[in-house]
Amino acid sequence: MEDNRLIGTGFQDEENELENSLRPRTLSEYCGQSKIKESLTVYMQAALARREPLDHILLYGPPGLGKTTLAGIVAAQMGHNIKVTSGPAIERPVDLSSLLTNLNTGDVLFIDEIHRLSHIVEEVLYPAMEDYALDMMIGKGPAARSIRLELPKFTLIGATTRAGMLTSPLRDRFGISFRLEPYSPEELSVIVQRSARILKVQCDEAGALEIATRSRGTPRIANRLVKRVRDYAQVCAEGAIDREVAGKALDMLEVDNLGLDNTDRTMLRTMIEKFGGGPVGLDTLAASTGEDATTIEDVYEPYLLQLGFLMRTPRGRVCTPLAYEHLGMLAPKPPMFQTQLDLGPEGGEG
Ligand code: ADP
Repeated sequence: MEDNRLIGTGFQDEENELENSLRPRTLSEYCGQSKIKESLTVYMQAALARREPLDHILLYGPPGLGKTTLAGIVAAQMGHNIKVTSGPAIERPVDLSSLLTNLNTGDVLFIDEIHRLSHIVEEVLYPAMEDYALDMMIGKGPAARSIRLELPKFTLIGATTRAGMLTSPLRDRFGISFRLEPYSPEELSVIVQRSARILKVQCDEAGALEIATRSRGTPRIANRLVKRVRDYAQVCAEGAIDREVAGKALDMLEVDNLGLDNTDRTMLRTMIEKFGGGPVGLDTLAASTGEDATTIEDVYEPYLLQLGFLMRTPRGRVCTPLAYEHLGMLAPKPPMFQTQLDLGPEGGEG
C-alpha cells in the first residue's frame, strides 16, 4: 500500500520512532473504543483469575485506528511479551513454526494483515490455535511420518483491514473479535493533546480540536498532523498551537476542513469531470487518477463513504450531491441521482 501522503494511514519509515513514542502503553491511556476496552477488561481479568492465556483475538478495521497498539497493551496488561509480525512476512510454514516454538506460555503473537497469510501457512496455524500443537512431517517418502509437537499456550492477536478476506476456518478459530470504529473529533482531540504533551509542544483545546476534525477519525493521521503543525508553530507562531495556528498550518498543507487532501479532491473531481459523477468502476478510477486500486479501496474510499460523498453501486462508485457541494461544484438535477441510487445498495464491482 502507498503511503507518503500526509493523511495516509500507513507507516512511513522515518515515522516509526514517532509512532512508538506516541503509542499508549495502558488501557487507560488508550482513548475511545470504550466498548472494546470494557469487554477486554472483563476477558483479561477472567483469564488472569483462571491463570489461563487469553483467548485468540481478531481486530479488524481501517489502518491507523490502534490495532497494533491494543495488542501491545493486552500483552502488557496480561504480564507477557508480544511478538509482532505480519501475514506477508511469514512466507513459509517453517517461518511460522519457528515463531510459535519460540513463544513462552501466555505470550502474544500479533500477526498484522493476517488476511495475507498463504494457505499453507494458515494450515499450520489451525492446530496451533486450537490445540496448541504443531504437526510436523519427519523424513521423506514412504518413511515419512507425522509427529505432533506441543506448543506453549499463547494468545494469537490477528489484525486485518479486510475481515471479509479472512477464510472462515481461520475466522472461526478466534474466540474474540472486535471491530475498531473511527474516532470522534472529541476523542481524537484528547489524543492530539496527549501527543502534543509528549512532543513538548503547547497546544490548547481549540487547536487540538481543529487538528482532530481534520484527521479522518484516525489517530495515526492525527499524530502525523500534530507533528506538521508543530513545525509550522515553531517557525511561524512562537511554538504554540491554537486554533488559528492549526488552521493556517493545515490550510498550507492543503488538508481541508473535513480532512480531505489533494488526492481525495482530485479523485472526486475526476469522477465528476470525466465521468459525469459516476458510476465509475474501481479499476477505471484507479487508472484515471494514477492511484492503486487497493489504496483507493483501503485508504481513500472508506472516509469518503463515511462522509456520504461517495456511494458504491453494482455499476461502480457514484459521487453524491454532498461531494459536489464540498468542491463548490453544481450537482446535476435530482432525477439523475435517482436513477443511480436505484441501481441498488453497496457492493458492486471491484
Ligand atoms: P493500526 O495497527 O490499527 O494500523 P496503530 O496501533 O499502529 O494502528 O496506531 C497508530 C498510532 O495511532 C499509534 O502510534 C498510536 O500512537 C496512535 N493510536 C492509535 N489508537 C490510539 C488510541 N486509542 N489512543 C491514543 N493513541 C492511539
